[in-house]
Amino acid sequence: MAPRRRQTKFIFVTGGVVSSIGKGISAASIAAIMEARGLKVTLMKLDPYLNVDPGTMNPFQHGEVFVTDDGAETDLDLGHYERFSSAVMTHHNNVTSGQIYWSVLERERRGDYLGGTVQVIPHITDEIKVRILKIAEGTDLCIVEVGGTVGDIESQPFLEAIRQMRLDLGRENALFVHVTYVPYIRTAGELKTKPTQHSVMSLREIGVQPDIIICRSERPMPPEVKRKISLFCNVPPENVVAAVDVPSVYEIPVAFAEEGLDQRITDQLNIWAREANLADWKRIVERIRNAKPEVTIAIVGKYVDLVESYKSLNEALLHGGIANACKVKLRFIEAEDLEKAEDCAALLSGADGILIPGGFGTRGTEGKIRAITCARTQKVPFLGICLGLQLATIEFARHVCGKDDANSTEFNEHSAYPIVDLLPEQRGVTQMGATMRLGAHPCELLEGSLAGRLYGGTAISERHRHRYEVSNDLLKPLVDGGLIVSGIHTGDRAASSPALPDGRQGLVEVIELANHPFFLASQFHPEYKSRPRDPHPLFKGFIQAALAYRNARVANPGGKE
Ligand code: GLN
Repeated sequence: MAPRRRQTKFIFVTGGVVSSIGKGISAASIAAIMEARGLKVTLMKLDPYLNVDPGTMNPFQHGEVFVTDDGAETDLDLGHYERFSSAVMTHHNNVTSGQIYWSVLERERRGDYLGGTVQVIPHITDEIKVRILKIAEGTDLCIVEVGGTVGDIESQPFLEAIRQMRLDLGRENALFVHVTYVPYIRTAGELKTKPTQHSVMSLREIGVQPDIIICRSERPMPPEVKRKISLFCNVPPENVVAAVDVPSVYEIPVAFAEEGLDQRITDQLNIWAREANLADWKRIVERIRNAKPEVTIAIVGKYVDLVESYKSLNEALLHGGIANACKVKLRFIEAEDLEKAEDCAALLSGADGILIPGGFGTRGTEGKIRAITCARTQKVPFLGICLGLQLATIEFARHVCGKDDANSTEFNEHSAYPIVDLLPEQRGVTQMGATMRLGAHPCELLEGSLAGRLYGGTAISERHRHRYEVSNDLLKPLVDGGLIVSGIHTGDRAASSPALPDGRQGLVEVIELANHPFFLASQFHPEYKSRPRDPHPLFKGFIQAALAYRNARVANPGGKE
């Protein structure tokens, strides 16, 4: 007899009233509590915009681009999904309207519709449904988040598709969660439910009656407010879940479980599962709450006034704090301010660690280089990521090896010492979308190096998103000057590039310096793989070094002299 196919259950998460109220975190936290009940969970994000992926979008507008192992450039909510659950995201887990229309139109051009009129319903909605069903295969629960807020013109086809899916699958197999905002109006001294009533009304107009309403609010929600929402929005009172602001997002799975959310879900979807085992999450909450000393990390970047641009990075630093039982305060420094500053060190004073994140374009690069000089010469713990590695290499070439004109061809095409440059395969690229070196690549670490010790092994795999690489043929003076290449990529891309000065064949992946408490930079983005339950070794090590630096600073406030 063929094995019985398991019936996947679906949770569709929509948002109302305003964006940025934590719909993604809510979906991710539901995944966390359902996994804690022993279910195999996956998640998916449906984005209504017409871009094919967020890879070409300005982080100002869109926030971070999250990169998956398989090299997809995706919405930052996929980062939350991976941090809160053990589901592995791929390019199938983030679908945009652009992708849906693209494939329908490709089929139309091929003549697959046999002369029929191609329409939003059923052709676009069918394509959406097919993709959701595909992702769900082999899982117990598939959580689908619809981007945007109810009422947006662009999200209509997605909402229509999930409406149809509920009809196709039945109430026991598909559940609607609506995440809404309940504002506190100071002058009235009250939480107001009207915006929620209106957003549920718009949902019902298109045939979607939410089963559970998650209410984001800054104040605790009295029972009468829950009752009101229940009455006006047509959901049982116990299905109105309060999600009050908490100091750390990692408190949300436990908070949801305390509100009984997992029980509501298992009840309606008729899921037989054990009690949620939230020991891991409770331990994390304890550690965050009891973290004692505070280290300050200066992040020198470009889009720094928009914290969302570095979402995974900020989270990874906090994970480093969880691992070291300390608080991590992030201080964002605009790189251009460092360019103009008379005294760079003064701007960076009080920082226990300096971090240069990934980035594109010339603006601010010289300021970042000044910050690196400061970190190197004053022995402040330093972590460079992607662009951070490229700039640390340039800084070393200029200031230690006397190559004054050293630069990346991204910033100066005519540099006399292009220590960072494009490989031939990137020179021919004309299309911007999805053409960088993307996704997971293996990397070999030098045994006994700082990187090797932190990872506790030499074979690792990390995610990439960049075009430029360090020029091996110009590395000799740097290596002679003390730069350690402690991680290399030995795959096919490396075969065509010149060998490293010591004869190893590979692309530079990690650099570090001896005679410095912690100076390390990586060409890959370690932040994408850090988890609160499994902090990344580089962030763990960086924060540990920052903590030692801070302790020395506190013990000797006047400095060394
Ligand atoms: N702009 C650099 C490159 O394309 C670095 C990219 C990054 O930091 N993600 O190689």
